[in-house]
Amino acid sequence: VFNFSAGPAALPLAVLEQARAEMLEYQDSGMSVMEMTHRGKHFSAIHASAMALIRELMGVPDDYAVLLMQGGASSQFAFIPMNLVTDRNQTIDVVHTGMWSKKAIAEGRKFANVQVIASSEEANFSYIPAQSEWTPTPGAAYRHITSNNTIFGAEYHWQPEAGDAPLVADMSSNILSRPVDVSRYGLIYAGAQKNLGPSGVTLVVVRKELLGRNPDLPQMFDFSVQAEKDSMLNTPPTYAIYILKLVLEWVKAQGGVAALEQRNIAKADKLYAAIDASGLYSCPTRVDSRSRMNIPFTLADDALNAPFLAEAEAAGLVNLKGHRSVGGMRASIYNAMEMAGVDALVDFMADFEKRHG
Ligand code: PLP
Repeated sequence: VFNFSAGPAALPLAVLEQARAEMLEYQDSGMSVMEMTHRGKHFSAIHASAMALIRELMGVPDDYAVLLMQGGASSQFAFIPMNLVTDRNQTIDVVHTGMWSKKAIAEGRKFANVQVIASSEEANFSYIPAQSEWTPTPGAAYRHITSNNTIFGAEYHWQPEAGDAPLVADMSSNILSRPVDVSRYGLIYAGAQKNLGPSGVTLVVVRKELLGRNPDLPQMFDFSVQAEKDSMLNTPPTYAIYILKLVLEWVKAQGGVAALEQRNIAKADKLYAAIDASGLYSCPTRVDSRSRMNIPFTLADDALNAPFLAEAEAAGLVNLKGHRSVGGMRASIYNAMEMAGVDALVDFMADFEKRHG
């Protein structure tokens, strides 16, 4: 099937095949990666190679730490203020563009004042406010954006200027889908289960000068301790990190993020063009903010939603149901989705429209 799930999402077939080939015995170890000590030579090499590939593929500068943590991006909504806020009276600036920024706001409020400096809520989060519309708080502890809104399908197609506060970006749903200038950001984080690998591992890339601001944190939540221990303070999610390493090798073999970006543009353009040309489907997202990763679309008649989903599934196109806050459909087409999947969806949509439109 072609799996259009928003996450956990489809992985490259080559990655799954390699994992299958190595499942029972990894190299000459006599055991599965799942069964290995994380301090042994095999897993240490896997871990080191995942770390090095993240640096290489994202172009992470030397003055940044790369952390592999647990608890998903949702834990980061709390860990980030814990680590970056030094005084309860400080302000966290947030650009509010959907359900995930709402969660960052709610968790941030437990540690500081939160100021929403721009929002697209009045338009059901169908666009990304321009930086000229931001009303930043001078001296904010940090300024938070969500680079792609998984649910509403709106994505930054520009990189914000850093300004006077560290820029923090939740890149959970578009990490490694396009080149990013890491040096603009104080911190980038992402749950793995879209473009990186299985859920259970969470990527944090943080400028080293931001570490150690809060000495009283539980050590598992403390970025400076995690950096010092190379994310091996406790038992890491070893199998998830192994799959992450395979995904990173796959990204490199595809030509890296610049090559993937070109593919992602081609896939998204094709699907949006099909939606725009049709009389049955429409996309609620403003054209300049349309996501390349998550493409929501509605049908002119809600009564057609159920037959659309049933017939799509019968055609091998699964997990197209949209989020309840948007309705209709959502096709998530992350890095691992091949053009063949988009072609199959576009053909199915045209055929469905002919029969029901
Ligand atoms: N942020 C964004 C943009 C997401 O899409 C998601 C999950 O889909 C999350 C945060 C939450 O991630 P997790 O489930 O890893 O906590």
